[in-house]
Amino acid sequence: MKFDEKVLNLINYLKGKKICLVSHVHPDGDAAGSVIGFYLFLKNMKYPVRAFLKDGVPYQYAFLYGAEFIERNLDVSKSDVCVLLDASEFSRTGFDMPDLPIIRIDHHKTGERYSDYDIVVTDAPATVSLILSLVKVWDESHIDERVARALYTGLLTDTVSFIHANSFPWAFSDALYLSQKAQIDDIGSLVYERKRKSFYLLLMRALERLTFDFNDKLAYTFIKNEDFAETGATSEDTDGIVRHVISIDGVEVGINFIEYEKGVWKVSARGKGRIDLALLCLEFGGGGHRNAAGCTIEGSLEKVIKDFKRAFEKWVGSL
Ligand code: 5GP
Ligand code: MN
Repeated sequence: MKFDEKVLNLINYLKGKKICLVSHVHPDGDAAGSVIGFYLFLKNMKYPVRAFLKDGVPYQYAFLYGAEFIERNLDVSKSDVCVLLDASEFSRTGFDMPDLPIIRIDHHKTGERYSDYDIVVTDAPATVSLILSLVKVWDESHIDERVARALYTGLLTDTVSFIHANSFPWAFSDALYLSQKAQIDDIGSLVYERKRKSFYLLLMRALERLTFDFNDKLAYTFIKNEDFAETGATSEDTDGIVRHVISIDGVEVGINFIEYEKGVWKVSARGKGRIDLALLCLEFGGGGHRNAAGCTIEGSLEKVIKDFKRAFEKWVGSL
């Protein structure tokens, strides 16, 4: 089915329904932006809608109007359908799967199919771009300034300020459209120039531990569980650290191993195109995009790094 037809089908299905929106744990700008943007649009349309993020809206995105309406405990008692945004599997939400039809709107290449109405477009620059396509067709008059600012935040962050976009014309045309709907010129500064001191304390530790391997093509660092208490940082402060690792000239894959829970390491992987990190992370039950992916590995740091390197070795031929 063509994209436009899929969008129409989904709109017809959602019409008149009580909708619940969810996205993944440790939400990034695209998760927060797509949930908030779609929520505000549906509210403008007078829909009974609720939106849930297990970890809440991170402080970087809390400036968005609508962040205050996002709930942390999933309650689907008043919903007919649950829309999973920017996540390849429902388990990524951190919630138990509800007994409701699930529809996935996403741009990740790995993942599960939940219904005939799923819209998964891997060359979309961000999930917010899919939401924008949908709301434009549904009722453009309800894309107000608040909706546009939330969607633009997802677009800006998921393209890393337009450094990476799967599809540049699509990303730029969305940016142009959104800039005509809202004042957006403060958003870059609000997201990127308000880092907390605890972010830098964490970053200093991460940079000190930077390790190179495979002829300096792989670089990695780690954040231990106790680093959070010792620096006063929270999980929100890890956002952006891996960018420093992949930004090194010659490094093809950059990793940050983050121990949010003792003995449970979240692998945050970034690449420059040579290796499909989504497939690499899939080996550990994770996924994502070719150049940005993640997974979870349990055990001691030494074991986790060893496990990861063993999987990485199989791809070294592509470097
Ligand atoms: P991050 O490193 O920012 O946590 O994640 C990079 C990308 O990979 C994001 O698009 C994120 O949604 C995806 N991702 C991260 N961890 C996982 C995971 O455990 N499973 C899946 N399927 N995707 C993940
Ligand atoms: Mn995301």
